Amino acid sequence: MSATTRAFRIPVNPAGWDAERIRKDFPALHQEVHGKPLVYLDNAATSQKPQVVIDALTAYYTRDNANVHRGVHVLSERATDAYEGARERIRRHLNAASTREIVFVRQATEAINLVMASFGRTVVGAGDEIVISAIEHHANIVPWQMLCQEKGARLKVLPVDDRGDLIMDEYPRLLGPRTRLVAITQVSNALGTITPIKEIIEVAHRLNIPVLVDGAQAVPHQAVDVRELDCDFYVFSGHKAYGPTGIGVLYGKESWLERMPPYQGGGDMIKMVSFEKTIYNDLPYKFEAGTPHIAGAIGLATALDYLDGLGLDAVGAWEHELLVYGTELLQAVPGLRLIGTARRKAGVLSFVLDGVHAHDLGTILDQHGVAVRAGHHCAMPVMDRFGVPATVRASLGLYNTPGEVEALSSAVRTAQEIFA
Ligand code: PMP
Repeated sequence: MSATTRAFRIPVNPAGWDAERIRKDFPALHQEVHGKPLVYLDNAATSQKPQVVIDALTAYYTRDNANVHRGVHVLSERATDAYEGARERIRRHLNAASTREIVFVRQATEAINLVMASFGRTVVGAGDEIVISAIEHHANIVPWQMLCQEKGARLKVLPVDDRGDLIMDEYPRLLGPRTRLVAITQVSNALGTITPIKEIIEVAHRLNIPVLVDGAQAVPHQAVDVRELDCDFYVFSGHKAYGPTGIGVLYGKESWLERMPPYQGGGDMIKMVSFEKTIYNDLPYKFEAGTPHIAGAIGLATALDYLDGLGLDAVGAWEHELLVYGTELLQAVPGLRLIGTARRKAGVLSFVLDGVHAHDLGTILDQHGVAVRAGHHCAMPVMDRFGVPATVRASLGLYNTPGEVEALSSAVRTAQEIFA
């Protein structure tokens, strides 16, 4: 530890948390970049994968690879069992009532586009309104904008205060008889804000307005119970939750999914096809046209096993310790401004440094082996709101350590000296 950091409170391990042992599970962490040990702090973009997930993918392709649902042979049965077993695993993780409510998609982005295309095009008409927040990822802005343009509907935006908290006093005023959907994130990727999602849902439901929750940044860090939240739709991506890329989940209440038309047409989403008429398949297959990402679903289920094995409460507690420590270290750097200091925050440290452009800072950090993201984080309206073109974002994962947070802050100080 450097002399500059000695005065700070070093994180205390939650009972039984052994970061060094956990790091051994992640092969990608054990490498050097630019001759320095890798410090991977880009977890909000995507997480590294534990060996068990890599092994699950290899095992599937080595032994069981076949197409699902249609085959009469052993490998197809195995693949189908594993794929449907993964669906059940995800149902259990989210505490959904039924696997009929779990739709596999490519990622959170596709899940939102599915709801936009299927629910949105059916329910939203001219003059209707959709409510989002000022801290959404582009994935939860652009699809709704496209729908509004197509239908002559209006997008209304719940504002954010200077800390990055949603201004909840404004929320009830945004809802009205024309509101067809509220679509809001549970955790902001750019600021780390944990939104009061339960309250957001409750207030909307009093007016019978359905709510979509973007859980892309929540699922890797906390337990999620869709029945407790009572959300109508919940979306997340596997790759941020220590699972593979190319697999994500849409949870939808069965009562909505039943009423929604298919998103795409093709194989597997049908029961019967003739040139006169097609009868669609039951849920959730109605929404899964074509050969799915079978290995991805299996890998995601394995990742959730891994997360549950560690315990999401312990994961959240550890990341919170790192966040508090990192906040203290960075706030002590002269000329550094943290963007996003919400009262309840996940492990995101977004910041700007006087006199150094975020991209230059990101490049210098990379030279020190510290992998962060520099840019607008697919949240340009957030950057506008805080009056910055870009930030550097360090985002924490369960395998990060106090030493890595120190490496970040000392690399930032070095960058500052270079540009002084
Ligand atoms: N929502 C949030 C809050 C995100 O952070 C992200 C990814 N950065 C997305 C949606 C989109 O995720 P994906 O690209 O995996 O669809």
